[in-house]
Amino acid sequence: MPTDNEFTRILDWPGYRVYRQEIDEKSKTLKLWVRRKRGNRKLECSGCGRKFAEACDVSERAVRDLPWSAFRTTVFIEVCRVKCPDCGVRVEKVPLLPGKAPFSKRFEDAVGQACESASARQVARRFGVPASTVRAIDLRYLERWSGSRRKPALRQMGVDEIYLGKKEKFLSVVCNLETGEPLWFGRERKKESLDEFFQTELSARQRRGIEAACVDMWKPYRLSIEQWAPNCRIIYDKFHIMQHANGAVDEVRRAEFFRKGGSMRGVVKGKRWLLLSRWVNLDTGKKRQLNTMFALNRRVMKAYLLKESLDRLWTYHYEGAMVRYLHRWIDQLRWQRLKPFEKLAQTLLDHLDGILNYCRTKVPMGVVEAVNGNIKSLLRRGRGYKNLHYLLLKAQRMAVTRTEFVAFAKAA
Ligand SMILES: [Zn+2]
Repeated sequence: MPTDNEFTRILDWPGYRVYRQEIDEKSKTLKLWVRRKRGNRKLECSGCGRKFAEACDVSERAVRDLPWSAFRTTVFIEVCRVKCPDCGVRVEKVPLLPGKAPFSKRFEDAVGQACESASARQVARRFGVPASTVRAIDLRYLERWSGSRRKPALRQMGVDEIYLGKKEKFLSVVCNLETGEPLWFGRERKKESLDEFFQTELSARQRRGIEAACVDMWKPYRLSIEQWAPNCRIIYDKFHIMQHANGAVDEVRRAEFFRKGGSMRGVVKGKRWLLLSRWVNLDTGKKRQLNTMFALNRRVMKAYLLKESLDRLWTYHYEGAMVRYLHRWIDQLRWQRLKPFEKLAQTLLDHLDGILNYCRTKVPMGVVEAVNGNIKSLLRRGRGYKNLHYLLLKAQRMAVTRTEFVAFAKAA
């Protein structure tokens, strides 16, 4: 059996020494009692940081610490209270104990780190604590991280909406295009939703510092940006416009599905995903499936080709060339009687200035899409992030550590 001294060295809690120990081999538990080392006498008020030499009382707290091999470890630590003239009777500040919860800082850090690559349920099994506790620890871990870091300036922003479902409807998401990090979530997608971001998150100076915003062709967002960010150029970006083009393809597919009926249904059924994919991303088998469908239905083929060719609009870097390409694209719609695409063409013409802004201000492509994809994957994995604050911190941490930035690389 190791001595108290040896336990002190292995435990390695700076400023503390083990004075009692208990090992239970049957239940695989290790209990250690610690108190301050002789040279570590300065007490700090947890409210204001003022230093004290005297404690007014001492109590014992039990906290879970990292396991020692198969042994679950509990550390019993003496915690003092001080009589602070500013804060009253206050517990001392102990760096090893980040909060009131019964866990040491390094236990919480280990749980938080594990949560970066595994679900709360998996982490719960590994550490032997309930999943709800894991989530609470993870939230504190993320809050400490967020509170200790400097946030980069916002010069280029992305605004997007995420559909949560029938009940909760939409979530508005603001991100920093330069860092690829989500900054804020708001309920719904009204002008008021985005107004709240500008009002509560940014100073007037910060709002003036925003030079560009990638947004969907969605009036409420535009109105809010125009009101709050006077120097901001609105850019209708490729990701959002291609979402509309995909929507148009899907409308054509559905119309054909109902119009033709019978044999056609079998061919078109279940092909939605294929039609929304880029041709370059499909393997030979998938391309063949599409070609079979196109041979039977010219309208669906036309819709697909129109969507694919619209994508090329963003290869142009001069306004004139971009406008010419767009007009040529719209000319192809003549005599096609593809209503969803005629509607899209009109929308594009109505928002032409914002589309051309892509040539005037350089913004990174694909960031809004990547942020959106990461949040959706978190939502899928976590099932019901009731706490939006937690979801945001999680997504921010993910962006900074690039844990799952697959979409980011693909879109670039
Ligand atoms: Zn104080």
